[in-house]
Order: sequence, then C-alpha cells, then structure tokens
Amino acid sequence: MAERAYFDWNATAPLRAVAREAMVMALAMTGNASSVHAEGRAARQVIEKAREKVAALVGAEAKNVTFTSGATEANMLALTPALEIGGRKALRDTLFLSAVEHPSVRSGGRFAAGVVEELPVSGDGIVDLRALRSALARAERPLVSVMLANNETGVIQPIAEIAEIVHTANGILHVDAVQGAGRIDCNISALGADLLSISAHKLGGPQGIGALVRQGTVFGDIHIASPLIAGGGQERGLRAGTENVAAIAGFGAACAAAEVARQADAVRMASLRDTLETRLLAATPEAVIFGAKAPRLPNTTLVAVPGIKAETAIIAFDLSGIALSSGSACSSGRVQASHVLAGMGVEPELARGALRLSLGWSTSDADVENLLNAWNAVISSLRKMHANAA
Ligand code: PMP
Repeated sequence: MAERAYFDWNATAPLRAVAREAMVMALAMTGNASSVHAEGRAARQVIEKAREKVAALVGAEAKNVTFTSGATEANMLALTPALEIGGRKALRDTLFLSAVEHPSVRSGGRFAAGVVEELPVSGDGIVDLRALRSALARAERPLVSVMLANNETGVIQPIAEIAEIVHTANGILHVDAVQGAGRIDCNISALGADLLSISAHKLGGPQGIGALVRQGTVFGDIHIASPLIAGGGQERGLRAGTENVAAIAGFGAACAAAEVARQADAVRMASLRDTLETRLLAATPEAVIFGAKAPRLPNTTLVAVPGIKAETAIIAFDLSGIALSSGSACSSGRVQASHVLAGMGVEPELARGALRLSLGWSTSDADVENLLNAWNAVISSLRKMHANAA
C-alpha cells in the first residue's frame, strides 16, 4: 500500500524541526519569566527573542505582539468594543464581519449580537467593497474584521484596499491572517491592518499558541482596554498567566523558518496545486473548483463533484491513505453546509460535496500522484454507489 499523503495543512501543519528543537531546549529550562533571578531572566530572554521573530514575520514591532493560546483567543481579544487609540478611549459601536470569516470571528467576540453585521461576498468569495462602504456609513466608530485568506477556499481578500476604506470611515481594521502567515506576504503595514491574528500551528509551530499583533495606526497607537484574562499582569496586562515558554519558543522558530522559505515554498506549492487541479479537472470535468477566478493561496483547492457527498468521500480517501477534509476542520466532524460556500451563493447540494485539499512545504510529487490515483478510484466507486442507490 502507498504511504499516507497529508493534504490537510489548512487544519494544521507538521511541526518544523527547528521549532521542535527550540521547544526541547525551552522545556529543559526552569525559570518563570516573571522572576528576577538568572533562571527567570533566561526564560524571559527566550520569550523576548521569540517575540522578535514573530514580529519580524509580520513586519511589526516586538512590543506590539501579545502571545495568546492561539488565533481563536487572539480573535476574541481583538473583537472588543473597548479599544483605546493614542491613549484615549475609542469605544467601537458596531462590528462588521465578512460572510466568510472563521467561526472564531463569526462569534462576534465581545460585541453584543445586535451590533454585529455581516458583509456580503461575491461569487468568488471576495468582500463586496461597495457594500462595505455603505455599511460603514451607518456606524460612527466601526470595527471591521476581514480575513487575509480563507481557510476553506484559500481566497485572498484585497486587505490594503479594505484598510483604506475602513480608515476613511474612522474605522479600525482587524485581520485574521492565520492562513496567510508564512504563505504569502503578511506585512502589517503593507496590509494596513490595525490588529492582526496569527496562529503557530498553521506555519510549523506547535498547537495552542498564537498572537495578536497591534500596529501604530494612522490615528495613534492602538490598545485593548479589556483583557480576556486578567490576573498577574503578564503580556503587558493584556493576557495574564505564566507564559508557555516552550510553545512561544517553537512559535518564534517556526516564524523565522517560514519566512526564509516562504517565497520558494509558495512557487513550488502553487505549481503542485496547479498540476493537481488540471489533472482533477481532466479526470472529472464536471468538478467545480471554488474561488478559482479569485487570487488564492498557493496551497489550497476546494473542489466538489456533483452528486458526491463530502462525508463519504473523506472516509473513502482516508481508507486509501489520503488525509483531506471538507471545508474547515472545525466543522468537518459535523454534517453542516459551509457558511463560506453559502456566502458565495453555492447551491447547498453542491456545497455538501466540497473537499478541501491543502498542501504544504513538504508535499511531494509522489503525494500528488497518490492523491490523483486515489481520486479516480474513490470518485468512480462513489459514483457506482450513488447510481445503485438511485
Ligand atoms: N482563523 C482561521 C482562518 C483559521 O483557519 C483558524 C484555525 N482553523 C483559526 C482562526 C483558529 O486558530 P487556532 O486553531 O489557533 O485557535
């Protein structure tokens, strides 16, 4: 039997060797980073070095990086009415979200449900900028949250353009950059984001660590006035609790490695992904690739074959040695239509068949070959099953 091939990098990526090494070293240390003795100072140094590496990945200042337990927490921390700008209270009255955000943003963070509004996207999954402009005219002090790249389709939003529109309307922009970080340029100034969330485990760091990054905005330095976790004042009062030094060390090492390899990896992944799509469409001409006309991440394909259900296909692929998912991992355990595809106006029947193939830096030609072989076998046997049941 062929070796297993992993095509679920958007759910989580393997731990990079450098991240593992940094973590093993940190695990051998003893100090609490808040202690003044040499052991404590050594732990502090590991954290601050990692903070610089995370900051470098997104072109931010290290002091503006707050470590959290992951991007879910970073999103919750960011999405609060209680912002301060330039040292003054700058309470947000409305939260606008795109229709394709990750569930951790769709929850609305700490805004009351009545002041959260959804922004429509086009059939290709791009935020409707005209709708954004008119929505912003209805709020005095809006907070807008739009992701850099979608976890299901890989579609990339025009964030710099969105930032300009948001700032012109006195708004603040939060960007969930989880799927873009380490794959495409994620410079916080170039994007124009005021707040940006990232997660270590999508770029080769460990699970359970992420960061919220702030940026000195056109209106002044931005600050979050209400921490989610209050207590000992760690992370400049923004996130209390003794730091997870090993996870932070692994995160920093992964960010540095991802940035060094990013451009070469992107070229290689895009070429493998393009081959994969061409051959999938040749084998199954009726297959639909979602967001195909929009700018997309180099590693993601969301595809459906009419009449094939994702739940059955995933199990069949798994038995053939292929790990892939339907849409987002968070909802793949449940049989539920993707809100991303619904937002893009895809018929629920077709959306139920959506399979996400996501590649990464170690995906090989042989992996793609295995997937294509399994594809032909799985699709034809599911078709037979379907025909027999009809
Ligand atoms: N946002 C996006 C776009 C994601 O893909 C994910 C991970 N599925 C998250 C947020 C949540 O990240 P974490 O797993 O670090 O909580």
